[in-house]
Amino acid sequence: DPIGSSVQLGDLPLRADLRGRSPYGAPQLDVEFRLNTNENPYPPPPALVADVTQAVAEAAVNLHRYPDRDAVALRTDLAAYLSASTGVALTTANLWAANGSNEVLQQILQAFGGPGRTALGFEPSYSMHPIIAAGTRTEWAPTPRRADFTLDTAAATRVLAERAPHIAFVTSPNNPTGGSIPLDELRALVEAAPGLIVVDEAYAEFSSQPSAVTLLAEYPAKLIVSRTMSKAFAFAGGRLGYLAAAPAMVDALLLVRLPYHLSVVTQAAARAALRHADATLASVHKLASERDRVVDALRGLGFQVVPSDANFVLFGQFDDAPATWQAYLDHGVLIRDVGIPGHLRVTIGTPAENDAFLAASKEIR
Ligand code: PMP
Repeated sequence: DPIGSSVQLGDLPLRADLRGRSPYGAPQLDVEFRLNTNENPYPPPPALVADVTQAVAEAAVNLHRYPDRDAVALRTDLAAYLSASTGVALTTANLWAANGSNEVLQQILQAFGGPGRTALGFEPSYSMHPIIAAGTRTEWAPTPRRADFTLDTAAATRVLAERAPHIAFVTSPNNPTGGSIPLDELRALVEAAPGLIVVDEAYAEFSSQPSAVTLLAEYPAKLIVSRTMSKAFAFAGGRLGYLAAAPAMVDALLLVRLPYHLSVVTQAAARAALRHADATLASVHKLASERDRVVDALRGLGFQVVPSDANFVLFGQFDDAPATWQAYLDHGVLIRDVGIPGHLRVTIGTPAENDAFLAASKEIR
């Protein structure tokens, strides 16, 4: 046994509000087909790998020095990418970056949430939102979506106005259900909310809807749009998330970020990967058409599939979703039980991976 094994978690002076909670836990299992964490299934092209390698080698010369605390060059590159893809003229001061959008979201709650403050989410949605709220001692206010997982915007605006959370998360496209929110409905939510609205656009590149970035000029004191390089950019292992907001929002996050949070290596690798954005993002169209193929095939097999604007689909209806999840695993296909009764979520993979998933689906159904 490791040294210290005689001590149990319950023996430790853990904060009372963290007792009995479960950590985020998508299983990382060594199976042939891993379709459970919404990654891009296409590995980085050799030219990107070569550029990242060279950029890291050049950066390694300075590993004895702390990195640029404010990651100015990286934020400038991210501003260029986001401006080009949304048509909104963003500058370095509008961008902020951290180790994955999870860290971005945590910094937002550290600065704007915390004890005595409330964050609201429209559930089911991304499971880390309440976990980050708990970690920052922000009260969590779950608000249900419709039974078909769409957002009832009229009801949502009323809840935002009445409950007046300090922060509300709007995930678009929504994980794990896949649908996105039209811009006019998003505007209605921002209008109704007395507090901040964080639009989590982790899957935006897969969506046909315009980005909430287009609303930033109208609502600079209320709106934050968070993004990530983990999905469409095929950079999940690189850990780089970012946000777009008014410069003052970034000033607020500087108060809570740890100094030098983005390593020299991360900044260099992310900048190199961004230079290959066109090549990486070419996979988005392939994945979107594979998604449509998988949806049609699942429906053809008699499954119910929730319409998706992302690189994953939620499907059912199962009498026992955990047992069905296990049946997929027994077929060598790892998908996700997101805790929604009767449903499972599958990430869209390569055509071969999707074929394996569909073949398993045919047998499991
Ligand atoms: N937001 C949503 C909606 C997500 O699904 C994810 C990843 N599962 C994230 C944020 C965080 O991803 P990352 O920290 O890799 O940017």
